[in-house]
Amino acid sequence: MTLIRPDLDTLPAYVPGRTVPGAIKLASNEVAAPPAPAVLEAIARAAAGGNRYPDLGVVELTGRLADLYALDPERVAVGCGSVTLCQQLVQVTCLGPGDEVLFAWRSFEAYPIVTRIGGAEVRTVGLDADHRHDLDAMAAAVTERTRLVFVCSPNNPTGPAVHRDEFVRFLAAVPSDVLVVLDEAYAEYVTDPDAVSGRALLDEHPNLVVLRTFSKAYRMAGLRVGYALASVEVATALRKVAPPFGVSSVAQAGAIAALEHREEILADCAAVVSERDRVAAGLRGSGFTVPQTQANFVWLPLGDRAAAFAAHCGERKVIVRPFATDGVRVTVSTPEENDLLLDVASSFRS
Ligand SMILES: *Cc1c(COP(=O)(O)O)cnc(C)c1O
Repeated sequence: MTLIRPDLDTLPAYVPGRTVPGAIKLASNEVAAPPAPAVLEAIARAAAGGNRYPDLGVVELTGRLADLYALDPERVAVGCGSVTLCQQLVQVTCLGPGDEVLFAWRSFEAYPIVTRIGGAEVRTVGLDADHRHDLDAMAAAVTERTRLVFVCSPNNPTGPAVHRDEFVRFLAAVPSDVLVVLDEAYAEYVTDPDAVSGRALLDEHPNLVVLRTFSKAYRMAGLRVGYALASVEVATALRKVAPPFGVSSVAQAGAIAALEHREEILADCAAVVSERDRVAAGLRGSGFTVPQTQANFVWLPLGDRAAAFAAHCGERKVIVRPFATDGVRVTVSTPEENDLLLDVASSFRS
């Protein structure tokens, strides 16, 4: 016997984005600006009540989100970040060995981790030549053991969004007892009119879950709030397995304030979108291949040269995110930081 369940030995370790003093950080898809002033005021006020437990039911924030999406509040589950909701989704669908969770690869690095924490098995389907989900191949890979499918759109780390027509075809092909999770962490940056938006498909597909987060466009990654939109059955199950009091009172207050100032906060995404196009064009001009991106990052499919590129940038105080032997993800930031990245990238030779 061992003290700790032996399968944890084989768990992939999460590699956090590095922080180096004096360097610019383009490794974690955060926004460089601090939270909105109204959010800062709200969290300061909430901090003064930090001697009290938070609202266990996250009632007010859930109600605001339900209004925003025109859904019954019972269909909204708030979590301490959407990563935690990913873990809860595995918990509510998988009982253990034999149950499978399917996703594209490469995709969000948390998917294999939460799958294995849940004791389930990982099944992956490779991205296509354009670094996009191959949803027809994913539908064909669903078996009677498949309990859950993660679809990340836009895909972290490669950038492309799934198209509405291909996603609708996918939903039609997947059995209704398999939960399909559309992870829309970067939805606010999507400009392609053909890209899928999950909310519109929820009512017709009770096995669909849409995940959203306050971590990216709302600039609140450190506050830890995300949410799931789902059927009453699925959202109720998610609330049952939620870590007790997981969403702090500070996080709840910050998210409520962010929704109250949603339009001003999200207006800032337009600048990121135009910088994204400039960064992608600049990198292509320096000879890099850059797949189409609908998120706040670009992907450089450098293969074996990924580590060398990340080291080259790191030596010049630009921290990017390598994924061994696949490529490097670079977060789009302010014009000044992006200029530095373009300059550093243009001197890369290998
Ligand atoms: C950043 C990100 C999230 C957000 O995670 P939080 O836990 O809400 O901070 C979720 N999914 C993907 C694919 C991401 O890249």
